[in-house]
Amino acid sequence: MALYQEQSLKLYNSMTGEKEVFTPINEGNVGMYVCGPTVYSNVHLGNCRTFISFDLVFRYLKHLGYKVRYVRNITDAGHLENDADSGEDRIAKKARLEQIEPMEVVQKYTVDFHNILEKFNNLPPSIEPTATGHIVEQIEIIKTIIENGYAYEANGSVYFDVLKFNKDHQYGKLSGRAIEDMIANTRELTAQSDKRNPQDFALWKKAEPQHIMRWPSPWSDGFPGWHLECTVMSTKYLGEEFDIHGGGMDLKFPHHECEIAQGEAASGKSPVNYWLHANMLTLNGKKMAKSTGNFILPEQIFTGENDVLAKAFSPNVVRFFILQAHYRSILDFSSEALLGSEKGFNRLMDAYYSIDELPESEKTGFDLDQWIQSCYDAMNDDFNSPILIARLFDAVKNINTIREEKLGITSADKQKLKESMKAFMFDILGLKDETSEGNNDGEKLAGTIELLIKLRAEARSNKNFALSDQIRDQLLELGIQLKDGKDGTSFSLK
Ligand code: AMP
Ligand code: ZN
Repeated sequence: MALYQEQSLKLYNSMTGEKEVFTPINEGNVGMYVCGPTVYSNVHLGNCRTFISFDLVFRYLKHLGYKVRYVRNITDAGHLENDADSGEDRIAKKARLEQIEPMEVVQKYTVDFHNILEKFNNLPPSIEPTATGHIVEQIEIIKTIIENGYAYEANGSVYFDVLKFNKDHQYGKLSGRAIEDMIANTRELTAQSDKRNPQDFALWKKAEPQHIMRWPSPWSDGFPGWHLECTVMSTKYLGEEFDIHGGGMDLKFPHHECEIAQGEAASGKSPVNYWLHANMLTLNGKKMAKSTGNFILPEQIFTGENDVLAKAFSPNVVRFFILQAHYRSILDFSSEALLGSEKGFNRLMDAYYSIDELPESEKTGFDLDQWIQSCYDAMNDDFNSPILIARLFDAVKNINTIREEKLGITSADKQKLKESMKAFMFDILGLKDETSEGNNDGEKLAGTIELLIKLRAEARSNKNFALSDQIRDQLLELGIQLKDGKDGTSFSLK
C-alpha cells in the first residue's frame, strides 16, 4: 500500500478558501505547475522562499509515493515592466543596458537561478520549459481563443476580451474581484491603446521597431503576452485539467486570473483543481522586491557581505529559517530571526547525530509510532512545516532525556527514530545532511580538520605556540572547535 493511501493530505485551495482533501485526477499521479522566475536578474531571497515552499510540496508528494510531474517554467520573453501590458520587456531592457544579447541575459540568470536553488538543496523540476521555446504553441492557442470568440485583433496585437468572457464565465473568481469593481477602479484607456476595455489583456503584442525579441505570427511580428506561456506550457505537459498550480501570492492577480480565463476560453475546462499560493518574504516589514531595492541576495547571506546581518549564514540555516514559517504566512527576514534559526538548527542536528550513541534499554519509554504519526499529521495539514519542526524538537527533548538515562529506548526503536527523523529532516524538509553520512563533503572536511590537528600538534612539539594557537583560533572562527583530551585532539562543529 502506498503511503498516500494511509495518510490523508489536506491542502488549502486559494480558489475555495478552504482546506480540502487532496485527490489527484489520476490515482497515484500528480501534475503540478509552478510559475518560475523571469530571468532578467539574480533571484533574491523572496523568490527563493516561494521556490523552497513548492520544493517542500514536491518532496512531500513524492515521499507519500505519488509519481509527480513537476513543471516549472522559465520566463524568457513577454514579461513587460508593467503588469498592464506596457513598458519595455524586462529581458530586452537588461540586454540593452548591459549591451548583450537577450539570450545572454537569459542564460546568465537561468544559471544563477539553478546554482542558488541547488545550494538550497531544492530538487530540480521534472520539466523546465521556456516561453521562447513555445512560441508556436502560443500562436496556436491564440487562434483557438479568437475562434471561440474571446479575443480580438487590433492593429497587429491580439487582446483577450474580458467582458465577453465574463458573460459566459466568471473572471475574478480566484482573487475574489468582481468585474464591476475592476471596471470602477481602472483608469480610462489612453488614446493610443488598441484595447476595447481597460480590463482586456494582451495575448499577442505587435513589436515596436526597436523591440528586439520578436517572432512572426498571423497578426504581426511581435511577442506573446506574459500570461499566455503558463497556460500553454501547463496544458502541453500536464493537460487541459491538472491537479496543482502554485506561485507567489502576488501572482494571483492578474497573472493567475488570466491563466484561468485563457484556459477556459480555449478548452471550456477549468484548468486547475487546487491553487496554492505562497506568502511573501518581507524585509524591514515590506515585501522583498527587486523593483524597490528592498531585497537581499542569497549569495550576500552566504558570504556575510551585506548590511543587514551580523554574520554569514549557511544555505541550510536559511532554508531552515524559511521552513520555520508556514508557507501561507508572511515571514520577515532579520538578523535576530536567523540567529535563532541557526541555534535551533544546530540543536536539531546535534541531537540527530547523537542517536547512534544513545544508551539502549529493554523498553522504550514513549510512544514512537504516535510521534511519527504526529509528524505526518503536521505535513498532512497543508504542509505545516513549523508544526513538523516543533514535533522534531519534541524528539530532541526525548533524545536529550535518553542521553541522561532518564528515559529508555530499545535498540530497534533507536534505529526507527533515526530513520524517521532522517526522512522528515532530509527527504521532506530538504535540509542537507552535511556529515560524512550524508555526503562525502563531510568526509573531506573531516580529513582537512584532521590534517590541521596534526600540523598543530607538530607546531606544539616544536614549541611554536603562536602557530598552534592560530590554527585553533581560526578554526574556531569558522565554527570548528578543537578539544584537547588525554587521547589526543578531537573536534566538533559549532
Ligand atoms: P518573478 O521572477 O518576479 O516572476 O518572481 C518569481 C517568483 O517569486 C514568483 O512566484 C513570485 O510570486 C515570487 N516572489 C517575488 N517576490 C517575493 C517575495 N518577496 N516573497 C516571496 N515570493 C516572492
Ligand atoms: Zn505563470
